[in-house]
Formats: sequence, C-alpha cells, structure tokens
Amino acid sequence: MRILVTGGAGFVGSAVVRLAIARGHEVINVDALTYSACLDNVAAVANSSLYRFEQADVRNRGALDRIFAAHRPDAVINAAAESHVDRSIDAPGDFIETNITGTYNMLEAARAYWTNEGKPQHFRFHHISTDEVFGSLPPDPGLKFTEETPYDPRSPYSASKAASDHLVRAWHETFGLKVLLTNCSNNYGPYHFPEKLIPVIILKALAGEPLPIYGDGSNIRDWLFVEDHADALLLVLERGQIGRSYNIGGENERTNLELVTTLCAILDVKRPKAGGSYADQITFVTDRPGHDARYAIDPSRIREELGWRPSVTVEEGLERTVQWYLDNEA
Ligand code: NAD
Repeated sequence: MRILVTGGAGFVGSAVVRLAIARGHEVINVDALTYSACLDNVAAVANSSLYRFEQADVRNRGALDRIFAAHRPDAVINAAAESHVDRSIDAPGDFIETNITGTYNMLEAARAYWTNEGKPQHFRFHHISTDEVFGSLPPDPGLKFTEETPYDPRSPYSASKAASDHLVRAWHETFGLKVLLTNCSNNYGPYHFPEKLIPVIILKALAGEPLPIYGDGSNIRDWLFVEDHADALLLVLERGQIGRSYNIGGENERTNLELVTTLCAILDVKRPKAGGSYADQITFVTDRPGHDARYAIDPSRIREELGWRPSVTVEEGLERTVQWYLDNEA
C-alpha cells in the first residue's frame, strides 16, 4: 500500500513511518517540520526506496493538491497536529489552524484526488485522534471511554481534535469519503519530544534538576507504548470498518506520581546516582488549569473486532524508553 502520512517527522507519525516501511509499504511523509518535528526520527528508513519526504504544511491546500497528484496514495494517515496541551493554553491559535483547518484541507485535498481518480473503493482516510476528546473520568475503575462516550473536550487542544474528528465523520456521511478514526490514550516511547512528561522527567533527572509534577500527582493517564500504537493504526487502516472509530489504549492506568516514581526506580538501576534516589528530585508544581483528572480507554472494540493487543507492559515499555534516552542523550 502507498500511504501518505502527515506529521511523519513527529513522535507518533515517525513510529508509523518506521513500522509501515518495515512491513513493506511505501510511505510519503508530509510534514511542515515545526518545533516538535525531527527528521532523525525517520533516519532509519530515510534511505529506503519505499520512503519519500515532502516538506509541506497542511494549512497550504495548494501544496497538498500537488502532493496527492504527484504521489497518488492508496491511503492517508493524518497525524500532523499541534499536540501539546500546555501550548494550547498559552497560544490556542496554532491549534485551531493546524488541527481544524489543516484537517479540513486534508479532507478536501483527499476528496478532490479520490474523486478525480474515479472514487477507488480501496482508498482510505485514517484520522489519528486522542482520548482527550472524551473529557475527564471520575476515579471509578469501572468507568472507561468507549467509542460511544459523548465528546466533552476541556482544553483548546482536545477541543481542536474533537472538531477535526467531527469534520472527518461529516466527510464520510456527506461525501462518502472512506474514513477511519482512532482515539488513543497517552503514548510514550523513543523519540518523544522533550516537552512531554516522560522525556522531561528522564532528562531533568539525569541533569540533577527538580522533577516537576502538576498538583498532587494524582491525575491518571492510560499509557501506551508508541510502537504498539503504530501497530494498531496500521491494523485499523488495513482491516477497520469504514466510517468506524476505534479506541486504542494500553490498559495501563497510572497516576502521574506512580509513573514518575517508576521512571526514577528504573534510572536508579540503570544509572545509579551517588547518595540517593532520583525520586528525591520530585517536586510538586502549580496544577495545569482545567487539568483532566483521569483518562482510561476501553479497548474492547479493537481487541474483539481486529484482535489487537499491546505487545509490551508499561514496565517493559518504560524500561526500553529510559534505555533509549540513555543511549541517545544528544
Ligand atoms: P508531535 O508534536 O510529536 O508531532 C506532530 C508532527 O506534526 C510534527 O512532526 C510537526 O512538524 C507536524 N506538524 C505540525 N503542524 C503541522 C502542519 N501545519 N503541517 C504539517 N505538519 C505539521 O505530536 P504526536 O505526539 O506525534 O501526535 C501526533 C498525532 O497523534 C496528533 O494528531 C495527536 O493528536 C495524536 N495523538 C498523540 C498521542 C500522544 O500521546 N502523543 C496520543 C493520542 C493521539
């Protein structure tokens, strides 16, 4: 399959690019190379005959039309986005433009190309989204996000992603575009941009700096290894039912404090610190405004319909992640 991946120089997109090429797919990586992109993330496949790179912005419809016509993809995986909740609180405008208008441009460019090609049956538009569109859950472990959970986004980031999800569904209902959607829980793993919690903690721990945790550290996230997310995304692309959403999660709920404590324990073993534990560096900082209390995914649909399961536990995945940062400090 020839897959046009947007945001393929970012964290999730690059994992998709690497895995798709390893499985023999052709990939056109379309990325504007914003602050969070890094072409080193795809260095392992950059010399493959299956790989093409186009530096382009999803806000630029003309560029997208040219790219669709030049590369004639069989499928799109739309992963380009502004992705950091804190930045969306400081400056929401970029989130509206890239996540909403950019998705609109991708849908229109894909629809124009697909129509021009005679509406081939096999064409797919797979939109990558987040569990944050569902809002915040109470602590009750029996309550989880399903695909039927009503949208209730709370941050500019999650609201922009929710808007993009609605557009994608509308392009299916209204224009018949063959779409798929996935909403995934928090990812972690190699190549994560060092503004997100896990790389922040690892790098600050190694630098001997305070390890900042919002509020009292009780916020719960459901952690998934990024390479397992990429595997799920390719599976949904190949076998998912058109027009359907799939929730993807690791069934690995941890409070932020538990997560950071685990990272410190792994670092204590892998790079022992003279005179104490890295956990001694933990500090609690003023909470993020509107900080969602808990996210948890019920992944029954993707498990039962497509047979998907994560391949690693959070402990194994965190160990691999810490090792990757130790091996790639630069
Ligand atoms: P990221 O910030 O690491 O990567 C985003 C990529 O998109 C970057 O390479 C960036 O250059 C590119 N990009 C940004 N604006 C662009 C534009 N206007 N035109 C073209 N390219 C642009 O983000 P990520 O964590 O890899 O997230 C990717 C997608 O996965 C997002 O849609 C996000 O909502 C979704 N997602 C992420 C997670 C997670 O935990 N990281 C979880 C669920 C869903």
